[in-house]
Amino acid sequence: MTRVPVRDDLRALEGYHSPQVHVDVRLNTNESPFAPPAAWYDAFAAELSRVEWHRYPDRAAAALRAGIAHLHQVRPDQVFVANGSNEVLQTLLLTFAGPGRAVATFEPTYQLHGHIARLTGASVLEGERAVDFSLDLAEVRRVLAAGSPVVTFLCSPNNPTGLVESHADVRTVLGLVPGLLVVDEAYGQFADWSAIGLVDDEIPLVVTRTFSKTWSMAGSRLGYLIGPAWLVAELDKVVLPYHLDAAKQIAGRLALTFVDEMEARVQFIVAERERLSAELAAMDLDVFPSGANFILFRPRSMAGRAVWQRLLDRNVLIRDCSGWPRLGDCLRVTVGTASENDQFLAALTGALSPEAVH
Ligand SMILES: *Cc1c(COP(=O)(O)O)cnc(C)c1O
Repeated sequence: MTRVPVRDDLRALEGYHSPQVHVDVRLNTNESPFAPPAAWYDAFAAELSRVEWHRYPDRAAAALRAGIAHLHQVRPDQVFVANGSNEVLQTLLLTFAGPGRAVATFEPTYQLHGHIARLTGASVLEGERAVDFSLDLAEVRRVLAAGSPVVTFLCSPNNPTGLVESHADVRTVLGLVPGLLVVDEAYGQFADWSAIGLVDDEIPLVVTRTFSKTWSMAGSRLGYLIGPAWLVAELDKVVLPYHLDAAKQIAGRLALTFVDEMEARVQFIVAERERLSAELAAMDLDVFPSGANFILFRPRSMAGRAVWQRLLDRNVLIRDCSGWPRLGDCLRVTVGTASENDQFLAALTGALSPEAVH
């Protein structure tokens, strides 16, 4: 069979992969270790049985948008919802990026920002963060002046480093961008401030959020952004019609009625994160401070990849970032349940011991 050539600009592109391996302790994709509350399952099942499956779902997802708007004290026309915040990012970049346009990222950061930008045909300007992974404002100025990107990405807390951008830095970058500033707040509930408070119809800022992490809803594929109403109207033109199925709209709307439970999970995870960080800091590792539900660390005396494999041999899966640019030997662990974290710590102690058998 003859293979049809893909677009020239996609030929060299690598896919985005996060291995889905069956192990006892899965701490590699920053999901919540807890299922949604039992009452959510009951309410969801009851509403599902009333869905008119022969009809298209509400195209505007009005009830879900209204729920999100209420949560953040914004207007529903400032909310755009999609299938995971990755589809939010894709829709944004289909609308504003594309051939002949540039998108800026500050590395290391979430790889999908640059990846999706490239898929739209845009070029990606990769600025560098400082050695401690903080934002270097001189570098930001240089990149923005040199390439005039139509979209500039920040991620706070940043994945995979865990660093929370300061309010002052975000405001400074907002004053410098020649186009849109996108702040990815997938882990926003773990931070002590949110850029959502800066959103205004007259300001070129959007903030993205997801149901995949703190809302314990990774299975639902639901994410959203808060931004100017004119921008949301443009995205509504680009996204496919009826892209949010009926079940998903119900799942998300009901999840928002369990805010207290979500916040309790966040508090628990923060406490566990502090415990894990302290334990890791006592080992032969460099540990990066985190304001999220994961911790980046680097073994001092062993290759990161070898430690990752030894953990996998002990039935613990974490994220191997060692092959990513600027993250040589780095590994990232998601904070799990107390028992999962204990199992991870025990496995890591074994993996780091010189006599460890593979
Ligand atoms: C996990 C994550 C997302 C979430 O993507 P979804 O498509 O909503 O699951 C977005 N941005 C960052 C930085 C993430 O880590």
